[in-house]
Amino acid sequence: GEALAVSARVAPLGSRLVLLLVEDLTEARRIEAVRRDFVANVSHELKTPVGALSLLSEAVMDASDDPEAVERFAGRMQIEATRLTNLVQELIDLSRVQNDDPLEDAEPVRVDELVAEAIDRCRHAAGTKQITMAAGGAEDLSIWGNRGQLAAALGNLVENAVNYSPARTRVGIAARRLTAPGGDHIEIAVTDQGIGISEKDKERIFERFYRVDPARSRATGGTGLGLAIVKHVAASHGGEVTVWSSEGQGSTFTLRLPEAGAARDRAQQHPDLD
Ligand code: ADP
Repeated sequence: GEALAVSARVAPLGSRLVLLLVEDLTEARRIEAVRRDFVANVSHELKTPVGALSLLSEAVMDASDDPEAVERFAGRMQIEATRLTNLVQELIDLSRVQNDDPLEDAEPVRVDELVAEAIDRCRHAAGTKQITMAAGGAEDLSIWGNRGQLAAALGNLVENAVNYSPARTRVGIAARRLTAPGGDHIEIAVTDQGIGISEKDKERIFERFYRVDPARSRATGGTGLGLAIVKHVAASHGGEVTVWSSEGQGSTFTLRLPEAGAARDRAQQHPDLD
């Protein structure tokens, strides 16, 4: 309706322009639809733990003369509260990576430090499941980028590797330098022996709120936002994230990011020389 009305008005200007305008409107509508979906998804995701908390608090009141039941309900309230906190934190992270230019305060970031931080973040979850974490190749490598965003990206990949793997398996983090004419890159591969991802789902897992198995994701405190954050961070650093997976065998997520080479180091120390 609207698009046609506009195109009728500008028709005398030529059909090329009309076509461009119609395309523009279509793109604007698409963006608006994505935004509306996102808001709907956020509302739904917030309502779930809030609804549970409300029911559980009623249950606590009804069970006030049964200390064991009160304790059980209180425990579940804690889980829901944690879920809510995770979601809000990831929403903040997502909006930050979408709005900030990560290269504004870029610096050389040591890969061994990123790896150590990512492992630290998952130590507890991995320990409970007796998952072995092994890292290699990160020494003497640096990435040119935003430390906080890079840490969030790698942390999410390692967290997923642990979350979507059965007990007593192994998670590996392997880093290496890739030499290329357009500039060297650093590749960090996170490999697990977990449940894997089907061909069909591989295309969608990087979308905000997409989960293969929502119940499983929620059970591990997942929000469905992690890989969307990883993808954004990789792209805004001039890199990319790719996935290889075999269902039931495991997955490898690979981050490719620009190396903090000598030229970049100089540019940072003497910004006006470059
Ligand atoms: P979540 O918070 O649910 O983990 P993500 O955006 O990090 O959200 O991941 C999206 C979905 O991709 C997950 O719900 C899961 O189904 C799938 N996924 C991510 N990483 C892995 C992995 N290492 N192995 C198997 N499935 C994975």
